[in-house]
Amino acid sequence: MRGMGVLFTDNHLNRMPAIDTYAPDFSSAPLGKVYLVGAGPGDPGLLTLKGRDLLEAADAVVYDALVSEPILEMANPAARKIDAGKRSGRHSLPQAETTRLLIELAWQAKTIVRLKGGDPFVFGRGGEEMEDLIAAGVPVEVVPGITSGIAAPACAGIPLTHRDHSSSAIFVTGHEKSGKYRPGVDWQAIAKAGETIVIYMGVQTLPQVIPQLIEAGKDPKTPIALVRWGTRPDSETLVATLETVVDRVRESGFSAPAIATIGSVVDLHRLSAQAVPEREPLLQALLATAQS
Ligand code: SAH
Repeated sequence: MRGMGVLFTDNHLNRMPAIDTYAPDFSSAPLGKVYLVGAGPGDPGLLTLKGRDLLEAADAVVYDALVSEPILEMANPAARKIDAGKRSGRHSLPQAETTRLLIELAWQAKTIVRLKGGDPFVFGRGGEEMEDLIAAGVPVEVVPGITSGIAAPACAGIPLTHRDHSSSAIFVTGHEKSGKYRPGVDWQAIAKAGETIVIYMGVQTLPQVIPQLIEAGKDPKTPIALVRWGTRPDSETLVATLETVVDRVRESGFSAPAIATIGSVVDLHRLSAQAVPEREPLLQALLATAQS
C-alpha cells in the first residue's frame, strides 16, 4: 500500500499534530508491515487462524485493553508486547501516540501486529489507524475478527436475525455523548429503522438512550439483553425490558464491557437458558429406565 500518494491531509494533521516528526523518507522504505488483527470477543477459539499465525510470527504486538490473556499468550514469546490500553499510567494511549509507535516499530521490525478486541474496523479505531499508517508510508493489512456485537448475543442464545422476528440489525455506539464518534447517533431514526438494535459501549449511557428510543415509538415492553464479557468464562447476561433495564442495571451493579441487544429476538435466549434444566430430568428418566 506504500506509495499511494497520500501524505498528510488536513484531517491527519488536525488529529495528529506530532506526526510530522515521523514523516517518512521515501528514499528508504519501512522494514515491516502492520497487521491490524481482530482478536475476536475473548474466547481464544474464536481467533482466526490467520490472526494466530501472525501472532506466532510477530516481532511486536501492540494490544488493547479488551484483548484476552489466553490470546496474548499465543504471541511469539520473543515478541515485544506493548499494552496500548494502559501505557504511562493513563487510561489509554492517545490515538496519535499509538499510531506514532506503530510507525516507529514498522521502521524497526518486520511483522507488527496491532491487536484489537473483536473486529478492528467495528468501533475499534482500525480505520483511523489504517489511514494514518498509509499516510506515513507504512504498509497495512487488515485481518478481520468476530465482533462482540455478534458474538456476545450469540453466546447468550440470541440470534440477531430470525425469520419470525427480525430482518435487520443495526450496530450503534452508545458512547457518542463523549464526542468520540461523529456524526452523533440519531436515536429516533434508529428506533424506527432497526428491528434488532445492537449497542456497543452503551451501559453507562442507557439512562439517556432508552427514553429516546421509547419516545421514538419503541414499545417499553421490548426485551433487551446485556451481555458482559461475552464468550469468556466469566460472561454474565442481564435480560430486562426497555422500561425496567435502567433500574435492573443500577440494582445489580451490572457494568461494562457489555453489548446491549434490543428486539424480540432477545426472547429466544430462553431456549438456551432452559436447555440445561429441561434436559436433566429427561436424562435422569432415561438413566432410571436403563437401570431398571
Ligand atoms: N472492536 C470491538 C469493539 C470495541 S468498542 C469489537 O468489534 O467487538 C468496546 C466495546 O465493545 C465495549 O464497551 C463493549 O460494548 C464491547 N465488547 C467488546 N468485547 C466484548 C465482550 N467480550 N462482551 C461484551 N461486549 C464486548
